[in-house]
Amino acid sequence: MKLPVQFRNFDGPLTQDLVREPGKFGLGQVPSALAPDATTTMVCGFCSTGCGLKIHLREGEAVNLSPEARYPVNLGTACPKGWEALTPLAAPDRGTTPLLGGVPVDWHAAMTTFCERMKSVQSKFGPHSVAFLSTGQICTEEMALLGALFKFGMGGLHCDSNTRQCMATSAVAYKQSFGFDAPPFTYADFEESDVLVFIGANPCIAHPIMWQRVLRNRRNPEIIVVDPRRTETAMAATRHFAILPKSDLTLLYGLANILISSGWIDRDFIAANVSGYDEFSEFVRAFTTERVCAATGLTVDELWHFAQLVGERRKRVSWWWTMGVNQSHESTRTAQAIIALALITGQIGKPGTGANSITGQCNAMGSRLFANVTNLIGGHDFLDAGHRAKVAKVLGLEERVIPGSPSMTYDQIVQGIDEDKIKALWVIATNSSHSWIHQSGFNDVVKKLELLVVQDMYTTTETARRAHLFLPAAGWGEKEGTLINSERRFGLVKKVCRAPGIALADFHIFRLIAEYWGCGEMFSAWSSPEAVFGLLREISQGQPCDITGIRGFEHIDEAGGIQWPWTKEDDARRAADLETSERRLFEDGRFFTADGKARILFDEPREVAEPTDDEFRFVLLTGRGSSAQWHTGSRTDKSDVLRALAPTRCHAEINPEDAQRLGICAGDEVEIRSRRATIRAASVVTQIVQPGQIFIPMHYCEVNRLTFPSFDPHSRQPSYKHCAVALARCERG
Ligand code: SF4
Repeated sequence: MKLPVQFRNFDGPLTQDLVREPGKFGLGQVPSALAPDATTTMVCGFCSTGCGLKIHLREGEAVNLSPEARYPVNLGTACPKGWEALTPLAAPDRGTTPLLGGVPVDWHAAMTTFCERMKSVQSKFGPHSVAFLSTGQICTEEMALLGALFKFGMGGLHCDSNTRQCMATSAVAYKQSFGFDAPPFTYADFEESDVLVFIGANPCIAHPIMWQRVLRNRRNPEIIVVDPRRTETAMAATRHFAILPKSDLTLLYGLANILISSGWIDRDFIAANVSGYDEFSEFVRAFTTERVCAATGLTVDELWHFAQLVGERRKRVSWWWTMGVNQSHESTRTAQAIIALALITGQIGKPGTGANSITGQCNAMGSRLFANVTNLIGGHDFLDAGHRAKVAKVLGLEERVIPGSPSMTYDQIVQGIDEDKIKALWVIATNSSHSWIHQSGFNDVVKKLELLVVQDMYTTTETARRAHLFLPAAGWGEKEGTLINSERRFGLVKKVCRAPGIALADFHIFRLIAEYWGCGEMFSAWSSPEAVFGLLREISQGQPCDITGIRGFEHIDEAGGIQWPWTKEDDARRAADLETSERRLFEDGRFFTADGKARILFDEPREVAEPTDDEFRFVLLTGRGSSAQWHTGSRTDKSDVLRALAPTRCHAEINPEDAQRLGICAGDEVEIRSRRATIRAASVVTQIVQPGQIFIPMHYCEVNRLTFPSFDPHSRQPSYKHCAVALARCERG
């Protein structure tokens, strides 16, 4: 498919020009190849759906946008955030200049301070006493440069990303089960399924364009939602199983027991393509109907009906999950129980099937594969000497600069600060002071740091306000690079707006740091985002995410995005239908493990970390509030349109039974107390939540004062979906 897009690689300025004349670049030059009043196409920079947007230009700059009808992801639709994507760029609290102790300085002063103080911390406390926390929101090439600069150039080791908060579980679950972090699906599977099972996922508001794809399904599908809340998706589904919070793992094992004992499985597929089945079938025998119903709150009929719906061999069944699964104390095994159900029923590698993790952020997938944080760049392994040698060769590095040990995870970095092991922290495009679980646990410990650097678009985020040094970054639309969406599709971001003041693209900030640090020579080949893409392409060779057939940014642009893998051989065939169609993995039943078989992994369910008791009788659930809100609101709160589409005040959903018992009316101010904090919220009395449960959207800063810091042992992902709280009505004033 050829899109009407003009694009040419934009060569960035030389590093010295960034310092001498930052305004020249910061004030922005849109790519000269774009005709002044043309329309160009790029992907949205909010969520992982990766919609294509048409950007309308006047005199070379974006003045408006509309959804791209020919982009294979969204087919002409966009959610409110996408429609409003340009608005947050013009917010008055954009960072326009570096700030040192709150005082504006130039880039030379900022870079000198950054390097001198980071090096000082390293010499005083050791090379691994500095850390960074990054994001799933910047471009793949920027993530790669950051990870390489920090680990290969600056001698750092400990770094993580906010993808730990959303996708670490899926990454670990896939890697252990499939041999690689490889979501198998394509969005066409939404349209091709007979039975879609959504577990802990609310696509109606969290991924509304994916939900549009479900609505295009012409197979009259059964849509099953498993969620303690009667979410928007549950209301639109054909079945809603409102299980008790965090009983999902028990439910999934119970379903497996019924499927196996009833013979509703695909024995040929299991024999050819699955390992661990015998042990699993023995293990799940303990998950009797009685045990599962007691744990989940489902009736026997509901449980068996569920099993029948997913056990029918003639039907195409797809399983979809997101944060309700991933943000739990036993999330990896829960995700792997979903994978096990798809495997034992042979529902993978065919249209309308799969064990499919829906990603959160626009480039969480880029972070998972190319950020050089958890995995060595390109889905390689830091612990594998062969992988280190390969990456060193491609990048022209000495092997010794690539660490052979893993990084601390996000929670371990926070703990490391508390234990005085980490003394300098660099936070890039994330807002930990709002979003980290048990927020005050983070905000208290960062006071112990000798240096906190925040690199962000906005000076006003809760984290930026705490920074010793603030580095102003360009945002989506003010720079170029690639994002990878949930279905493994590379999409392109272009520079169509001016960054304010002397703000720079993250890419150029990293290049500047390399120069000032004294390791610029090491990154001489990393001269532009497209040059970095070329390096990533070489590194990917032979990996499951091989992209050696993607010829460059223009190729991605012309093709309407390209899903990985796309090898040289794929490209040599140049089959137009193959290039632009939606491709899924594992069609041959071969997985990326050593024996080619998918592994079933399982464990006994564990008690939640903080059960309710007589004092804290309610379970607090958190999640997305509306399709107009995004994470901590640092961008979406800047749009009048988006603010008008969602409540601006923190509010708590309370079941009418509980409300009546506690004398709470709709709109009353209520107090919600956990062992860590007390907050106030407006009450929303609704049947959406069950008795004994409270739901507060994650977008309000108050909510993570309450949450309890427990983590999945395999993925170290925080459990945002369960803690114990007390509820009371505030005195009416
Ligand atoms: Fe952007 Fe996601 Fe909305 Fe699509 S669904 S327009 S990618 S925020």
